[in-house]
Amino acid sequence: MQVTRTYWLEHAWLDPGVETGVALEVSDGRVTAVRTGVEAPPPGAEILRGLTLPGLANAHSHAFHRALRGVVQVGSGTFWTWREVMYSVADRLTPETYHALARAVYAEMALAGVTAVGEFHYLHHAPGGTPYADPNAMGEALIDAAAEAGIRITLLDAAYLSSGFGQPPNHHQLRFSDGTAERWAERSSDLKERAHARIGAAVHSVRAVPAGQLATVARWAEERRAPLHVHLSEQTAENDACHRAHGCTPTRLLADHGVLGPRTTGVHNTHLTDEDIRLIGAGSTGTCMCPTTERDLADGIGPAMALQAAGSPLSLGSDSHAVIDLLEEARAMELDERLRTRTRGHWTAASLLRAASADGHAALGWQDAGVLEPGALADFTTIALDSVRTAGPPPGLGAETAVFAATAADVRHTVVGGRHVVRDGAHTRLPDVPRALADAVQALRS
Ligand SMILES: [Zn+2]
Repeated sequence: MQVTRTYWLEHAWLDPGVETGVALEVSDGRVTAVRTGVEAPPPGAEILRGLTLPGLANAHSHAFHRALRGVVQVGSGTFWTWREVMYSVADRLTPETYHALARAVYAEMALAGVTAVGEFHYLHHAPGGTPYADPNAMGEALIDAAAEAGIRITLLDAAYLSSGFGQPPNHHQLRFSDGTAERWAERSSDLKERAHARIGAAVHSVRAVPAGQLATVARWAEERRAPLHVHLSEQTAENDACHRAHGCTPTRLLADHGVLGPRTTGVHNTHLTDEDIRLIGAGSTGTCMCPTTERDLADGIGPAMALQAAGSPLSLGSDSHAVIDLLEEARAMELDERLRTRTRGHWTAASLLRAASADGHAALGWQDAGVLEPGALADFTTIALDSVRTAGPPPGLGAETAVFAATAADVRHTVVGGRHVVRDGAHTRLPDVPRALADAVQALRS
């Protein structure tokens, strides 16, 4: 039986502009009609006051990093000292504790307007590297967690085989390793897609997958037409080590082994040469910027503007979850560029929203989401325009207000597949998300 519902959107961002009075018809989880100029709510319509956006895609997540929030802000150091603290959390996770943590983290994402997450997953095995009875127990825990939190997931199952160029995994990293790319492919082939879950691949980085095995991962993704993500040149130390081992940049190494292309997304893409930018853009390889993490980890500012101009579609991710706020990621990309160049207005609010919605979904293999148009998945989120942060500007500037002034705290509703996951700022399935987060993090300490 077809379930049809009408939503009346007080204001809606219909790329590239804001419309006032929009009726959205939804049937069986998809948008079937979008009517503009509807001044009053039709009888029986569900009324969404504020500015409705397509659902936001969080294109790069490591759910367990949420347990580091606050903890890693004490003291000084670098990416590499931060990584030691991160490993100490990774050492303690089990399928049960990871499921509880990820469910709470994905609920936090829903509360922030996120309707799809790209989970870059490399914590595959028990401590020491012993496979669980179900070798995909950890990945399945994440897929279940997303279902229970009410959002879509693309599980980007990552190959992580070495500690550095020519170095075996260290004792923390044994959990991450399948030994060889062939064995990684065998295990990840057992993961099954479902209505809320897609399966993609990842190369953790050129540090973690030997050059001779990159093509195995690329072929796996090619055969399935699946998204393929890779951490790329986040740190200059990675570039230096790659030069020493292979005499080229990480981007060149990936290009030479068939990893780049339109279904591939480089995450961070921070420290690139002009030739790297040309290689990434020419193959339409995507770029996922994670500005709140990149500034938190003192990575540097990636050349997002130049990458996009070269042909690389942009997406956004909250990565280490220092904060989970895609509006903040979107504005940070623009504001970082302003600081770097001392000029304003590199991206419009519309183009930043596109990175946070349609292009982010496309990077995760959800080509039919992230837009409010007939045929698309009925995934959307509504931002309050009457909060202490957003009151004042004319509704016609709702996109600018959302991107440059709103925060995740202004998310009023999140709808996934035509179902409310967040209503009036509260999660409909997990009544107390802060408590769930606190309990899940506490469980890792005891
Ligand atoms: Zn990452």
